[in-house]
Amino acid sequence: MADDYYDLLGVSREASAEEIKKAYRKKAVQYHPDKNPGDKSAEEKFKQIAHAYEVLSNPQKRTTYDKVGSAAFDGSGGGGMGNFQGNFNFGRGNFSNPFDIFNEVFGGFGFSGESGRRENSRGNDLRYDLEISLSEAFTGVEKTLEYRRSVACTECGGSGSAKGSKPVTCPNCHGHGAVNINRGFFQMTQTCPQCRGAGKLNKNPCRACGGGGRSTAEHTIRIKIPAGVDTGVKLRSAGGGEGGVGGSPDGDLYVVVHVKNDERQFQRDGAHLHSSVDVSFAMLALGGELEVETIDGYGVLKIPAGTQPDTTFRLKGKGMPHMGASYRGDQFVRVRCHIPTNLTREQREKLEAFAQSCGEIHDGQQKEGFFQRIFK
Ligand SMILES: [Zn+2]
Ligand SMILES: [Zn+2]
Repeated sequence: MADDYYDLLGVSREASAEEIKKAYRKKAVQYHPDKNPGDKSAEEKFKQIAHAYEVLSNPQKRTTYDKVGSAAFDGSGGGGMGNFQGNFNFGRGNFSNPFDIFNEVFGGFGFSGESGRRENSRGNDLRYDLEISLSEAFTGVEKTLEYRRSVACTECGGSGSAKGSKPVTCPNCHGHGAVNINRGFFQMTQTCPQCRGAGKLNKNPCRACGGGGRSTAEHTIRIKIPAGVDTGVKLRSAGGGEGGVGGSPDGDLYVVVHVKNDERQFQRDGAHLHSSVDVSFAMLALGGELEVETIDGYGVLKIPAGTQPDTTFRLKGKGMPHMGASYRGDQFVRVRCHIPTNLTREQREKLEAFAQSCGEIHDGQQKEGFFQRIFK
């Protein structure tokens, strides 16, 4: 196990670069082989100090050392190794395109990621959330969608390089985007520090896109929403997604449908619709026919004599169409009993006579109480 690099130099972990330099000079003079001829332990110490200084004098290496420890530099393994490897595993070979992950997570508009780094790749798919009314869902509808999407830069065609210039293959990784480094027994893959994983160096970036190879543009599509569509249905518009690069196809647009609640109080349940209607006490008692509103007009409800309040009737085939089929669901109508609140004198006298005939009213005093209770 290697000694702590700070201890080796005799400085604190918070030491400044200048302090580290001074401490190293002092120790180096002390243990220099010229000053300690034949002393093996001094020679060993001198090597360790030089190594410690090499790491701590480099801000990047020092940060890694502070996080991971000497395992990152001396190849002796230990607990720090896994951690260290994790930090450097984003080379192209291991993780083909980290931006795909971002696009999956953040999908949709306004997030283009940094897909410009890729070449000859299909554009990302996009998602569009579309709200339509229940009536539109009933008939089916054609919609024009306008949105901004990321496309290959028109100036450089997505290459990211200015006209007449081409990205050159990175000499450090020979285009792989990653380099192998040996640390003792371990071989690790590290993102190429020169091209940062791109495999190419863009010496003369395109001015229009700043080298990213992408820009955003307005895009318009027409899409047919089929009759009977319900919330959550996904429709694909081929080529409506982000633009492809280098002749590769564009991504697709997925339109996710949301059907709004109906303003006429139709409640949807798949292909069936539910509604309710107010009916007079007399109609429920005597029976009759009643016109009720349906999604596309009117239907006739036949109410038998003696129907109780809150009975539900079915209007067959008056519901929503099944998507891609010619038949329709049903409409279920619940009849509520409506009690009148402003009777005329004549209506009142007739209702009193009715109540009397039912044996509910015997004299004037009870009469008052009865109607006060009912019509309050
Ligand atoms: Zn460009
Ligand atoms: Zn490289």
